[in-house]
Amino acid sequence: MTTNYTAPLADIRFDLFDLLEVEKLFARLPGCGELTRETIDAVLDEAAKFSEAVLAPLNEVGDRQGCTFDRTSAEVTTPKGFKRAYEQYVEGGWAGLTAPEAAGGQGLPETVGAPVKEMIDSANLAWGTYPLLSHGATEALRVHGEDWQKEAFLKPIVSGEWTGTMCLTEAHCGTDLGLLKTRAEPNEDGSHAITGTKIFITAGEHDFTENIVHLVLARLPDAPPGVKGISLFIVPKMRVGRDGAMGGRNAVRCGGIEHKMGLKGSATCVINFDGAQGWLIGEANRGLHAMFTMMNTARLAVGLQGLAVAERAYQNALSYARERLQMRALSGAKFPAQPADPLIVHGDIRRMLLTQKSLIEGGRALGLYAATLVDIQHRSEDPAEATRAEALVSFLTPIIKAMLTENANECASLALQIYGGHGYIADNGMEQYARDARITSIYEGTTQIQALDLLGRKIMQQRGEGLQLFLEQLGAFCAQHANDESLSEFIPELGTLAKEWMEVTQTLGKRAVANPDEIGAAAVDYLMYSGYIALADAWARSVAAADASGQSEDFKQAKRLTARFYFARLLPRTRAHLAAMQAGADSLFAMPDALFG
Ligand SMILES: Cc1cc2nc3c(=O)[nH]c(=O)nc-3n(C[C@H](O)[C@H](O)[C@H](O)COP(=O)(O)OP(=O)(O)OC[C@H]3O[C@@H](n4cnc5c(N)ncnc54)[C@H](O)[C@@H]3O)c2cc1C
Repeated sequence: MTTNYTAPLADIRFDLFDLLEVEKLFARLPGCGELTRETIDAVLDEAAKFSEAVLAPLNEVGDRQGCTFDRTSAEVTTPKGFKRAYEQYVEGGWAGLTAPEAAGGQGLPETVGAPVKEMIDSANLAWGTYPLLSHGATEALRVHGEDWQKEAFLKPIVSGEWTGTMCLTEAHCGTDLGLLKTRAEPNEDGSHAITGTKIFITAGEHDFTENIVHLVLARLPDAPPGVKGISLFIVPKMRVGRDGAMGGRNAVRCGGIEHKMGLKGSATCVINFDGAQGWLIGEANRGLHAMFTMMNTARLAVGLQGLAVAERAYQNALSYARERLQMRALSGAKFPAQPADPLIVHGDIRRMLLTQKSLIEGGRALGLYAATLVDIQHRSEDPAEATRAEALVSFLTPIIKAMLTENANECASLALQIYGGHGYIADNGMEQYARDARITSIYEGTTQIQALDLLGRKIMQQRGEGLQLFLEQLGAFCAQHANDESLSEFIPELGTLAKEWMEVTQTLGKRAVANPDEIGAAAVDYLMYSGYIALADAWARSVAAADASGQSEDFKQAKRLTARFYFARLLPRTRAHLAAMQAGADSLFAMPDALFG
């Protein structure tokens, strides 16, 4: 049975127009000035239609059929309907939605692209992985590509004629890219011969397009060891000349696809490079730097994937909780005419529903805020504003990636729980979400790696610049609403937590100087602690924005009551994370390895 999906347009519109006031923002950002509310609404409506009508019905098909691999031809066939949906996606102009106009894209801001992406991923997470990697490749080519590379590779990716991939992982190196072995030997014509095997490559081979452009990390012959000796190469499946003309097959071959827990419609490929023609992109030995251009974009996008799966799982759990009759409410029958009350009357079902609703809507507000920062960073004419936005988005990226995907796992599990045994069996489609959600907290840097990025790099190495900026804004918001009676249930607590957040960060910093293991011991708790406060900030702002908006009274009340639940029942999770951080590294390292079992 296919589960339902209705694009949450009302909440998306609230976030864009009321909370983030994007009309004012776009009016002052170059290239966005002509973007009217009507145009944005039309884009959102069309994306909702495409997601609901074309992609959502293919979600279950993709999970059931998965991809197939033909060993003889080394070709991958995607699930029935996926290729046609991609053609419709390209025909609809979606491939180049946020890509630069100079490359044939529509140049829309990421703030408009992000909700479109959310809808696509809610409708069909596996299908959404194919265009996802193209988006990352577009960014890397746009920023680091030479002019001819942009002409030859960027334009066909932007038009959707070709797709892109991101080839980092090898069998012995995932997190630790310094270990990678793929080699790049210079050819006489200025290209390089790439040799090595990459694994787990999303959309590495498929039947959507004739050519696939792999962005591959490899080592030049004289490269220094470790991450300082990695370069980035463009390696197309079909050879492409400097004039953009497509030649014959390159020495790139899919060696197989993985059988995995979820995301089955997404081809996860072994890709063998056997002296394949590749072109250096960006500076030699600075490949990781160039790849980070893709990774930051991709990390925010994976955070949105988490949000998207949670949204669809929640929608179905909510419908089920309204329909399924079991037991009576503890305070007496609420629907006496029926043989039992619907699940939604029960306290713990309400806890599970509100947990999902508050994590999803708070996560959406935070994710879309980050998208506005990306647009400001790239488009603002005020260098100070752009730098500030860059610091903020760099600080928020690991929080959004890790927290929204951890939340996705929690939400998908709670949605399944609401279905009881009917969630665990395959027939109702709910277990697919729990399986699909699981990868989001693993790929594009696991939760642990996001946490180390946040605490180790963004806080310790970069002296917490992003945190300070975030706290300045939070402080200004609290000061602005200090005497606002309607926000008095949120503001004082938010202010107290902001103060505590800075103190905790300073304490951890001091401890880490004495013992670097303290960073790893505290990192995930620190990230989740930070994430819950960031969501509290998003919730308080959402209530304020709803109250000041022309939204209906029901909408305003729903925002306030959800925020109240969040502050009362989820924000206290910061206490447990704080206690774990304060306990320090001792209890982790006291245990000798041999005594683990
Ligand atoms: C479906 C799927 C799609 C993927 N798509 C792509 C793709 O398109 N391109 C690509 O290049 N890769 C891709 N990957 C690979 C993915 O990014 C890696 O699996 C991931 O980065 C983790 O690497 P690993 O699996 O080698 O785990 P390892 O690096 O071996 O790590 C194992 C565990 O140890 C933890 N760990 C490692 N180091 C530390 C540390 N210092 N502190 C604390 N914990 C640590 C990790 O968090 C993890 O939990 C994909 C993987 C899957 C399953």
